[in-house]
Amino acid sequence: MRDFHLLAILFVVIVPLAAAFSQTAPANHQPVLDVTSMDTTVNPCTDFYTYSCGGWMKKNPIPPDQTSWGVYSKLEDENKLILREILESAATTDPGRDTVKEKIGDYYAACMDEKAIDAAGSRPLKADLDRIERLGSKRGIAEVAAAMISDNVLFDFRSDQDYKDSTQVIAEADQGGLGLPDRDFYLKTDAKLVELRKAYLAQVRKMFELLGDKPGVAAAEARTVMRIETALAKASLTRVERRDPKKVYHKMTRQALVALSPTFHWNEYLAKVGLPSVRALNVATPEFFKAMNAELEKEDLGSWKAYLRWHLVHADAPYLSPAFVNADFDFYGKALRGAEELEPRWKRCVGYVDNDLGEALGQAYVERSFSPEAKQRAQKMVKEIEGAMQRDMESLPWMSPTTKQHALEKLHAVANKIGYPDKWRDYSALAIARDDEMGNVLRARAFEFHRQLAKIGKPVDRGEWQMTPPTVNAYYDPQKNDINFPAGTLQPPVFDPNSDAAPNYGDTGGTIGHELTHGFDDEGRQFDAQGNLRDWWTPEDAKKFEQRASCISGQYSQYVIVDDIKINGKLTLGEDVADLGGVILAYMAWRAETKGQKLEPIEGLTPEQRFFIGYGQSWCTNTRDETKRLRATVDPHSLEKYRTNGVVSNMPEFQEAFHCKAGTPMVRENRCRVW
Ligand SMILES: [Zn+2]
Repeated sequence: MRDFHLLAILFVVIVPLAAAFSQTAPANHQPVLDVTSMDTTVNPCTDFYTYSCGGWMKKNPIPPDQTSWGVYSKLEDENKLILREILESAATTDPGRDTVKEKIGDYYAACMDEKAIDAAGSRPLKADLDRIERLGSKRGIAEVAAAMISDNVLFDFRSDQDYKDSTQVIAEADQGGLGLPDRDFYLKTDAKLVELRKAYLAQVRKMFELLGDKPGVAAAEARTVMRIETALAKASLTRVERRDPKKVYHKMTRQALVALSPTFHWNEYLAKVGLPSVRALNVATPEFFKAMNAELEKEDLGSWKAYLRWHLVHADAPYLSPAFVNADFDFYGKALRGAEELEPRWKRCVGYVDNDLGEALGQAYVERSFSPEAKQRAQKMVKEIEGAMQRDMESLPWMSPTTKQHALEKLHAVANKIGYPDKWRDYSALAIARDDEMGNVLRARAFEFHRQLAKIGKPVDRGEWQMTPPTVNAYYDPQKNDINFPAGTLQPPVFDPNSDAAPNYGDTGGTIGHELTHGFDDEGRQFDAQGNLRDWWTPEDAKKFEQRASCISGQYSQYVIVDDIKINGKLTLGEDVADLGGVILAYMAWRAETKGQKLEPIEGLTPEQRFFIGYGQSWCTNTRDETKRLRATVDPHSLEKYRTNGVVSNMPEFQEAFHCKAGTPMVRENRCRVW
């Protein structure tokens, strides 16, 4: 699946607090706007983020098992306590359990059985390790890659809607095969990344040693892995390039793919993954497959065995015995993201159930935590924000009537998905055993991979979700033209029906507006009402859009993330456009909905001020420097401070609400506005 347009990226690094077992599911009484979370010693016109969040940031240091700690991650952590209660009760062997509880309960029980997992050591890897060992020629790599479907071997293979015919699902081959989070980690020369590469080499070597290789051999194998992955990284598109849908759409025949990489035995691979007769597919990154072929030619069989073994152990380490889990955490949790401690086992297991059986767990979660009234309230707010966007589009001074008509058509076609899917996923074909943790993980991966490929050639299921119901996040999907708000994100303190309207609109209203605006950001605007990649803009309007968008990328490119690293404004452009559009739309909707009402100040703050503080407080976050550095490269979202200050400094409504003088930092001289 392609990258979706999320509200936020939450880096979940899995781990527990010492006090974890005394925690119980919280009774949520946190207000959307909490005045004790503010720092009123800071002038809102100088730094609105710290004014809104300074108190929160002092009260909420990052727990040792977390890489950042914000309103969203805290809510996610609290959701985990609820999910844990659900799973502990489902994990009993009560004969009265229904099939859904049986599945999630047995999965959780197997995952929590650390004794059995410890005793198994690396044994669960044996069948796959033997398969790699038996490889007699490079020709057999395709078959092994097909067996290691979800282990990120060489490339990524999946199904996707055809960009140019969104009614069709086709196969898709894309770049992949790396152990570090991005191509830049292999190629950039700044000191921190050079240091990280050293740590990565040591990590790969450590894993080979855990598989029983002698230190000298393991060190040589690690260098081989680094050499192969660096070559794949060089041939990979950058994240900025990948934001252009045209750059990742190259539909071609199967023969054309074979011609790009003839050394890889595609016929064998496609037959093994269950697509023996596929005739055409999207090869997202043709140059990558050429380079992959050159590597297959260049490196010998022994090198490829090392590469495959690394990706096997890397993919499976989190589910193996503590030696593997801890080694994996040392690099991916600590070195890369700055976490101090591994998450407790129960939290990790909750995460795995959510990942592998999310719509089974989600059913129980929704029953417990998401009322029909909450769904109705959210639906109502979505309709109001869509109404605001329609008025906004109709009154835009820079867009011609022709383009406006297409934009409105697209807006009216947006499907709103709130809370959870209408039809739950059926997991009955997925076997879960109470005493086989790794087996459950592997079967779940295979189930998901084949579920994705089974869509090829069938009508698109527009009711499907890419996020599970407990998820604290939201997304827009340009190919389905829909906005999706899981139940997990429609909870206090980000959404509270009992709050005064202003902060609710600033917070969740801003989020709804954000997702909606993604349909019209620099990437989303290239897709039409039906989700096809098709240009519906007049050339003059497209030019005006680009000028307006470049105001935003110029603005954000000035912001420093950490050290001397600045935001890559081209990477974050879509999110920054969505943030600004989202708050503008939410403000319009709030104004319209409260028209004629006499709104009084509350807690010494005017309704307008409460709207903006509600928005600001949705982003209160503390983040470790390591994670900031990682985000600078991989995250299309700007840091929370700038998601707040970058937006309000573009809005005259904010200046007025806080009586900010011209020339203060939160009043930009040349304001940007797209939507
Ligand atoms: Zn977004």
